[in-house]
Amino acid sequence: MTNKTIWFVGAIMAFSWPAMADDIPDRAELLKPAPNPAWNNFGAGRPITQEIAPGLYTFSGSARTIFMVTKDGVIATDPATPKDAKAMREEIRKVTDKPVKYVVYSHNHWDHVSGGQIFKDEGAKFISHEKCVQHFKDKPNPEIVMPDITFPKNYTLKLGGRSLELIYLGPNHGDCLVFMRPDSENGKYLFAVDIATPGGAPLTFMAGYDPANWLRTLKELEAMNFSVMIPGHGVPLADKSSITERRKYLEALMAAVKKANDEGMPGDQIPEKVRVPEFAYLRGYELNVRDNVRRMQAYYGIGE
Ligand SMILES: [Zn+2]
Repeated sequence: MTNKTIWFVGAIMAFSWPAMADDIPDRAELLKPAPNPAWNNFGAGRPITQEIAPGLYTFSGSARTIFMVTKDGVIATDPATPKDAKAMREEIRKVTDKPVKYVVYSHNHWDHVSGGQIFKDEGAKFISHEKCVQHFKDKPNPEIVMPDITFPKNYTLKLGGRSLELIYLGPNHGDCLVFMRPDSENGKYLFAVDIATPGGAPLTFMAGYDPANWLRTLKELEAMNFSVMIPGHGVPLADKSSITERRKYLEALMAAVKKANDEGMPGDQIPEKVRVPEFAYLRGYELNVRDNVRRMQAYYGIGE
């Protein structure tokens, strides 16, 4: 049985939230600022679709993605995996009989962009930042559909009277990550994949991240005009302060490693001793902080 919660935003726009299963956090709770314990409850393990604004949906399989329904078709984003793409296609069919016209890749990482063939088969055009193409050529993966449309900076995708703005901020997590701003509620939402996971510590050795550019990007996002972040993993949405939470964690981590370096702590002791206890509340902190420290040791060792 599906319960529905009706939300009133501005001029009484109603959209649904398939609450209140035990594992789906309440929308109002999710939108409270960091540190927010509700960000630890994201209902992993089963595909789920949530309409977060009229015609704007998040879909959660192994990763989180978004899709927009327009009068002329659907704009989908990261297919994630073949299994997730199939599940997402079924979910899209539940809300519209329109075809998927576009699939937009957030970046080049396989856990987000595999499985698009099901959409290619129905005629969808694939879009990514131009720098993703070389990655797909260098590391071929038969589950990844090559993009049809690429762009060097920003790109605004228009379909059926709606738009999805794709924003490129340079290298940060890889070198082809784009942030996506749907037109919903005047740009209130930002789909931001892998740049911050609300309430969580970064994974182990921070694969693909360039620390200095990561920090720069987080600051640019903090200055950007949006209020709700849709992350690529975890909760369906979070307050913009989740970006600030990640920025502050990185700054504290980097400062602690630099201080230990500057004070002459032996390199083999730094991963064992350097910690940022004020962030011990983050999900995965205990598991990942040692490798996070080692990543920053490498940064201060080689400057990258
Ligand atoms: Zn990634």
